[in-house]
Parts: sequence; C-alpha cells; structure tokens
Amino acid sequence: MANHLFGSIRQAMPEPEKIFIDPVGRRRLTYGDLLGWSGRMANAIVARGVKPGDRVAVQVEKSVEAIVLYIACVRAGAVFVPLNPAYTLVELDYFIADSEPALIVVSPDNATGIEAIALAHSVRAVDTLGVDGTGTLMERLDHHKAVFADVARGPDDLAAILYTSGTTGRSKGAMITHENLASNARALVEAWRFTRDDVLIHALPIFHTHGLFVAINTVLFSGAAIIFLPRFDAGEVIHLMPRATVLMGVPTFYVRLLAHAGLNRDVVRHIRLFVSGSAPLLPETFRAFAERTGQIILERYGMTETNMITSNPYDRPRVAGTVGPALPGISVRVVDRDTAMPVEPGTIGMIEVKGPNVFKGYWRMPEKTEAEFRPDGYFVTGDLGLIDRAGYVQIVGRDKDLVISGGLNVYPKEVETEIDQIPGVVESAVIGVPHPDFGEGVTAVVVRAPAVLLDEAAVLDALEGRLARFKQPKRVFFVEDLPRNAMGKVQKAVLRDTYKAIYEV
Ligand code: AMP
Repeated sequence: MANHLFGSIRQAMPEPEKIFIDPVGRRRLTYGDLLGWSGRMANAIVARGVKPGDRVAVQVEKSVEAIVLYIACVRAGAVFVPLNPAYTLVELDYFIADSEPALIVVSPDNATGIEAIALAHSVRAVDTLGVDGTGTLMERLDHHKAVFADVARGPDDLAAILYTSGTTGRSKGAMITHENLASNARALVEAWRFTRDDVLIHALPIFHTHGLFVAINTVLFSGAAIIFLPRFDAGEVIHLMPRATVLMGVPTFYVRLLAHAGLNRDVVRHIRLFVSGSAPLLPETFRAFAERTGQIILERYGMTETNMITSNPYDRPRVAGTVGPALPGISVRVVDRDTAMPVEPGTIGMIEVKGPNVFKGYWRMPEKTEAEFRPDGYFVTGDLGLIDRAGYVQIVGRDKDLVISGGLNVYPKEVETEIDQIPGVVESAVIGVPHPDFGEGVTAVVVRAPAVLLDEAAVLDALEGRLARFKQPKRVFFVEDLPRNAMGKVQKAVLRDTYKAIYEV
C-alpha cells in the first residue's frame, strides 16, 4: 500500500526545478526542495519517536517551514494537528490533553511555557520552529537524509485533526482522512481549472482548512506555485497581482482591497480567478468588486468537517448571495429543521452533505459524532439555507444563530439584508437575546458609514413596511466594527453576550 495522499501529490509533481513556493524576500523553494526537505523532516520527526497514527501538534507562526512540516507528517503517516497561534497556554493545555500528541512543535517564544504542559500530559518530545528558519526542528534536519520511504496509509487513515472554532462548549477535533483531502483537492483543481501555470497569492492563516487544505492541496495537486505572504496586506497583495493568477480570500480581504485606492482593472489583469469563502460575501462587495475591476468573485462554501462542499461555477454564471451547486462527487440536500424530511427547492431548512469530502467524526467524541450524522450517512452541517431551482445553494446562517421570537423563526440574514440597504449603513448583525415576553428579542447591531447621522428610530422607520412586525428589531445598537475571528466570521456569540441583559425587567 502506498501513502494515499502523498502518492497523489507525487504523481502530480512537476519537474524538480519548478518553483513551489515563493516567500517574498526569502529563499524560494522548488518542488525538488519540497521533496528533499520534507524527507529530511519526516526522518527527523520519526527519530523523535513519531509513529504512524501519532499526532503532531503544531502551534507556530505562518512559515514555509510549517507547510513542509505538514507534508512531512503526511509522509510519516502522522496526524497533523495545527493550532491557532493566538491560543493561550491555558487553551493549549486542553488541545494537548485532548489530542495526546507524540510531538509538539511551537514557536521559540512559547518554548518555556509549553514544557510544563508537555510534562503534565507525558508528551515525550517538544521542538521549536520560528518564522525565519530558526528553532530546534530545523537544527535537526542537518542530521537526516533527504530520502524517506513514505509510510503506507490508506484512504481512510487520518491525515489531520483540525479543531473547530466552536464558540460554545468544548472545541471538537475533526478527524480528516487522506481521502477527504485527496478527493477535495481533485474536485477543486477540476472545478477551478488549476494548472501548473497558476500562481496563487497565499495571504490566509495556515491553521485553518481554507489556507491549509484548500490553498495548499489545490496547488500541490496541479503542480502550480504559491506566492506566500505572512499575512494579508491590501497594498502588498495589489503589488503582487501582476505576478499571480489566483487569489483566495475571506470576504474581509475583498472589502479591504476595495478600500485601497490602488485596486483597478489594470492591476488585476493577470488574475484569472478571485475566490471567496469562510464567511458570507455581501452582494454589495461582489458588485463593487465587479464594477471596479471587471472581475467576478467566485464564492464557495465549506467547513472544517467537510472540506469544500459547493462552489459557484467557473464558466457559468456566478451569482451574488449564493455559494453555487455541490462540487462533483458531493451530494447536498436541505431538510426540514424539525422533521428532517427533504424540502422543496427554495424552502429554507438544514443543509446536509454526503461524499468523500466528509470527515470521519470528532476525535474521541463518538456521541457528538453520532448526533451529527443521519442514518443514511448525511452530515448535518448546522447551516440553514436553501437550494434554488438552478441547484445553487444559498446560506442564511448558522442554525444556532436563528432567532425564535414569540415562537416564530426569524432568519437573521433576511433582516440584515434589509438593514444593509438603508443608506448610511455599512453592515449589520442581527441576533436574538433573552426577552421576557418573546423568549428572544430580535436585536440589530449596526455599523454606520463615517459622518452619517443615523439613529435607532431612523433604522426602525426604514424597516417599517419592509419586514413583518415580528421580524423587526426591538432594539438597534451602533458599533464601530463588528467582532470578527481570524477568518472574518462575525462572532455572534460575542454580540449575544454583550447585549444579553438589555431586555431584562
Ligand atoms: P469553519 O469550520 O471555521 O471553516 O466554518 C465553517 C462555517 O463557515 C460554515 O459552516 C458556514 O457557516 C460558514 N461559511 C463558510 N463559507 C461560507 C460562505 N461562502 N458563505 C456563508 N457562510 C460560509
């Protein structure tokens, strides 16, 4: 048996001299370098005691070396467990206890703090990895050969565990298999027409499925190249566009690009594809981008547990406010929230998905896993949405963000869409907070454009006659910015907490 994921990557590999990754200002890595370097690293981690199936927990800043470490883990048959560098030591303690890694790799700055955690959980080996090629892991490479016999792994073996960015309860480890990643990479290469001539601007974090799997595996499965940035910077991205063909971003990237005076038709001319995902792209942003650049952003939908599920088409219409039809080989359906029976096209319900992209379950949480799969194998995404007659999926939000006021369902997206159309509104978030009469009170949090005079009464007036009474907010609050996480998702749990007591009597 070969190594399922790396075997496919090897097959797609171009000639060794071809550039794989260009970390602007640092040494570029060819595909030959990737092979040799990941071989050395695989030998090094095996020498540290990592056996097939063992977890390797990695909390480091974004670097090319960290990407090589991901590949080394795949080749060594280990399970890569990336962790957000923003996690504190207290949070790390949970992830280490839960994943029981054989090896922890951290930034040199965290080396001292992690020792105690490693000791407490009997982790045998700790290494460091800095952004500039420093750290004990890189020092070890000199002692190891570039040749490595890839460890045999089947389609169903684990390649990674990614902890969900759950805001309630304990974070769950999603078990991602070799075939989950291989099948999704193939589907995306086909859907987005990736070839070895592509050059992707990579400005996303690499502890999350978007920047790690969508971006890196799509490139590896097509022999393309990456321009690698430590973080998103609108000016820098615009500066690099003439050298690139694809940009993958979260909606915030596009908002920031639009706010930059340097974005115009000329600078984007070399780019063939702008992809957006991980959070909803406002139709307003979609239209403004098309107007300014002549390019139509392609929006797709996915999640940690399922990899990518749907994508707007490459060569058919890309529709604002939708995430397109299911990717090849993947089935999506919408069912009634209460009865779990499939609904008619156009009706809102729970989005469910089945296919080779869907994860194996939550790490050491069999009950949670069982609760989120239907008997016929469909995974319950927790997202509410609909499938229109053309087969395009529209997401209306997370099920847990649904507001139930006076026993009636209020979909926040519908209210937000109305509020966003009021002149002077930049964006909005609608939440439900405890209300003595209604159970939950519809509550709007609004960002105004600079120097705009808009108050609560004006917003409520504007909604009169446009939304049924029960959907209209009971209160409207104004903020400078909505709270967002690293992937640009609005953190509604934070807002619910901020406003939780406003209707108390
Ligand atoms: P994560 O597991 O962190 O990738 O988050 C997955 C969730 O992000 C999904 O379940 C959706 O709620 C949301 N999401 C991802 N892509 C989109 C999109 N294009 N539009 C709206 N929501 C999205």
